[in-house]
Amino acid sequence: MDAAVVIAGAGPTGLLLAAELAQAGVPVVVLERDPEPRLAAMGMAVNAGVVELLAERDLMDRIGADGLPWPRAHFAQLWLDPGRVPGRQAHTYLLPQAKLEEHLLAHATKLGAEIRRGVTVRGVRQDAGGVTVDTSAGEVGAAYLVGCDGAHSVVRSAAGITFEGSESAFDGIAGDVEVPHGHPLYQQLGANDFSRGLFSVAPSGMGLLRVATGEFGRRPADRAAPPDAAELRAAVRRLTGQDIDVGTPRWLGRWDCETRQADRYRAGRVFLAGEAAHVHFPLGGQALSTNLEDAVNLGWKLAAELAGWAPSGLLDSYHDERHPAGARTCLTTAAQLALLHPAEQVAPLRQVMTELIEFDAVNEYLVRTAGGLNVRHPDGGDHPLVGRRVPGVPLPPGRGVALRFDRSVPLDVSGWAGRVDLVTAEPSADVPAAALLARPDGRIAWATDSADPEGLAAALSTWFGAPARA
Ligand SMILES: Cc1cc2nc3c(=O)[nH]c(=O)nc-3n(C[C@H](O)[C@H](O)[C@H](O)COP(=O)(O)OP(=O)(O)OC[C@H]3O[C@@H](n4cnc5c(N)ncnc54)[C@H](O)[C@@H]3O)c2cc1C
Repeated sequence: MDAAVVIAGAGPTGLLLAAELAQAGVPVVVLERDPEPRLAAMGMAVNAGVVELLAERDLMDRIGADGLPWPRAHFAQLWLDPGRVPGRQAHTYLLPQAKLEEHLLAHATKLGAEIRRGVTVRGVRQDAGGVTVDTSAGEVGAAYLVGCDGAHSVVRSAAGITFEGSESAFDGIAGDVEVPHGHPLYQQLGANDFSRGLFSVAPSGMGLLRVATGEFGRRPADRAAPPDAAELRAAVRRLTGQDIDVGTPRWLGRWDCETRQADRYRAGRVFLAGEAAHVHFPLGGQALSTNLEDAVNLGWKLAAELAGWAPSGLLDSYHDERHPAGARTCLTTAAQLALLHPAEQVAPLRQVMTELIEFDAVNEYLVRTAGGLNVRHPDGGDHPLVGRRVPGVPLPPGRGVALRFDRSVPLDVSGWAGRVDLVTAEPSADVPAAALLARPDGRIAWATDSADPEGLAAALSTWFGAPARA
């Protein structure tokens, strides 16, 4: 075997998953088709959910220095007010995805993940002992394969997993353009909605602007042909009614907004994560939070299975937890797309939504949805924290943590030594519990408000296997 786990694709999902596995001591190889890290990564913002995940891994200080804090949020470009949401929470950062990928690559490599570039995955076969991945550089053997190879995933097709959904309602162009100081494109900064579709301009570097267009009901003459400055300028003219110079493109690409989801996230020893598992309208930042949550959810479970202590059903819980979360993202982003349809069709609906957002509960619900913070799994457990991720809970790499704020709670995790750490901390208003059990992905598996640890042993066995002395 070449590795315990092979990952197809070094996008953000594959890189974070590789880091999670490497951190837990799992030998991991990432196979990436592109010979060099890409400039043309489409994302421009990371939402609160991503910021929390990165902060938990001590990455946000470094990564944040390459971005701009942007304490705003929107739902279909209807502005929300994160300041009216009670409690401590992270906020959005403007951060070019290529920068995020640069940091994730450094993080994964430092932890020992091997990245093989210029290697295209072509197929996979599997048996009870492992997987054999067919690639442009020969066969690669492993215990598990994870397809993080994006929307057109070869791994997904090879595993026979379907990807049903809806066609794109529009087509667009996105890319970085070089512009001199005072260029007319600077007057278009911000996200604007126009009657025929979307047009947004955002800073993406020194003298660099990220431009994105999206036109409903208009197909490019040749979707396979790369767009150029003339095509971008014509699209901007149709959307804004103004003829604006679009500078000098550094890169341009096409995008659309299909909504699709894999019917299964697992087929035997093959798993799917990120856009290989779900694609949807990307505006608003829920794409990366859903992708990266897939990675952290799967990483510790695979590591536990390989280390031999995973309880039965742990690997299947990846699909059980992440498929519904992906379906929610598909739903809430499709709702946003519907609200962005040509303005004259949806103006009354947008007006009503704007009025609803004045209600604190609606504003909070949408801020949490757009921020990727409304996900709750494992579903179940009586305590309101169970299933949530709580920022500020210390996460020892690859292990769970039993965290005690009230020293009188008798927490005994000695049977799970090496899998669960016991930590005593000062009470915090942000974590309303006397004690809790967090999984390695930061999700709370058990919590109590009293000194009674009832239910802890069951939660430990459910997520961390049988106690060593049993
Ligand atoms: C216009 C636009 C704007 C966006 N803005 C945002 C945003 O602001 N915030 C946000 O959260 N999200 C945004 N997104 C979405 C975000 O870019 C994607 O969700 C994200 O890139 C998906 O990550 P991934 O790692 O799952 O897949 P990908 O990024 O698609 O990575 C897949 C990787 O696999 C490689 N690969 C593919 N096939 C093979 C193969 N056969 N063998 C080996 N390697 C292979 C590819 O080269 C690639 O490196 C935007 C998307 C678009 C189109």
